[in-house]
Amino acid sequence: MDLELTETQAMVQKTARDFATRVVAPQAAETDATERFPRAAMKGLAELGLMAVNVPPEVGGSGAGVVATALAIQEIARACASTAVMMSVNNMVGEAIARFGTDAQKQQHCPRLASGEYPTGCFALSEPDAGSDPGGMRTTARRDGADWVLDGAKQWITGGSYAGVYIVWARTAGPETGAKGISCFLVEGGAKGLKVGRPEDKMGIRGSDTVPLEFDGVRVPATALLGQENGGFKIAMMALDGGRIGISSQALGIARAALAESAAYAKERRTFDVPIAQHQAIQWKLADMQTSVDAAHLLSMRAAWLKEHGKPFSREASMAKLFASEAAVRVCNEAVQIHGGFGYVREFAAERHLRDARVTMIYEGTSEIQRVVIARSVLA
Ligand SMILES: Cc1cc2nc3c(=O)[nH]c(=O)nc-3n(C[C@H](O)[C@H](O)[C@H](O)COP(=O)(O)OP(=O)(O)OC[C@H]3O[C@@H](n4cnc5c(N)ncnc54)[C@H](O)[C@@H]3O)c2cc1C
Repeated sequence: MDLELTETQAMVQKTARDFATRVVAPQAAETDATERFPRAAMKGLAELGLMAVNVPPEVGGSGAGVVATALAIQEIARACASTAVMMSVNNMVGEAIARFGTDAQKQQHCPRLASGEYPTGCFALSEPDAGSDPGGMRTTARRDGADWVLDGAKQWITGGSYAGVYIVWARTAGPETGAKGISCFLVEGGAKGLKVGRPEDKMGIRGSDTVPLEFDGVRVPATALLGQENGGFKIAMMALDGGRIGISSQALGIARAALAESAAYAKERRTFDVPIAQHQAIQWKLADMQTSVDAAHLLSMRAAWLKEHGKPFSREASMAKLFASEAAVRVCNEAVQIHGGFGYVREFAAERHLRDARVTMIYEGTSEIQRVVIARSVLA
């Protein structure tokens, strides 16, 4: 793995960092407090080419690669984890359509996902009774003439109130077929019969939209099938492998913010006549936090580099996501501690970082599921 960034990667990182500092960070506390979809920030990211970083330019993307995508998400997450998760999902949706879509599907959706014409794209896999085990999903798609008709419910869908396109997984063969009877469809925003439920009242990433969806006889044409009939599960797993690099990057960005703010605070805050940074207990916390951040960075970059170079990366993506998310929670918890009472109130960002970090251990596969993936590969 080459640790030096290419010119393109460095440029994407700088572009994201500048935008994060100038536009995203100043709005982050308000985005969290008001739970408002950060529409302007999302549009700005699209204008900078950061909404489809690893999507080929022929279909409107930036074509800057996987490492560049990870770097961009890290920078935005450092400023606002809510914006970063929707950016990560949008990039994942664009990539999946670019990879598995027909020419017509790519031409219809990828440029709109990249340009911000779609406020966001959605990944609708989880259901009320099927999260870790999506093979147990109940949403169905049945043929009706040339069309498919979708019925069922999805749960926890990021950006679901605003999507221009949803990638939706549904059962196209009996439940006994498990993961082998699932297909994948592209459903347009505002489709008849698609009902968007009330946004979840979440612990963190409160500026990101998370909603249940109901599919009540949603009719899509045969051309809406993404990939092969009954081949949808594989698409989900491949997309999630890549998405996990996005979430490890999000976790890393949050942890970096918590660390930087803790170091600055420790130099300012005084107890017993000295800055708390002079107490060894605080220094050790900062040392451990920095070590965790660097380890998370290296694991994330390795997974991104392997994916970029067309090598197997599933295990490495799970390791990056597992480590980075758990490290982020540890780091943010220590950040609250270093801030003392001020860590517990909204005046400082430390409490937001901890609330935001927590979900990275849950979505796109919980820590337990990452360990299942890793252990399976160790024992293979
Ligand atoms: C804010 C937010 C946004 C989300 N966004 C999306 C989205 O955009 N699209 C989408 O499709 N989904 C999304 N999700 C759903 C998310 O991916 C699921 O919540 C997650 O996969 C866990 O599923 P579950 O909630 O059903 O938990 P369950 O699967 O019910 O798991 C409950 C507990 O059991 C553990 N467990 C389950 N199976 C095993 C096992 N085999 N071994 C050991 N432990 C196990 C889990 O790790 C967990 O601790 C989102 C979730 C949240 C909270």
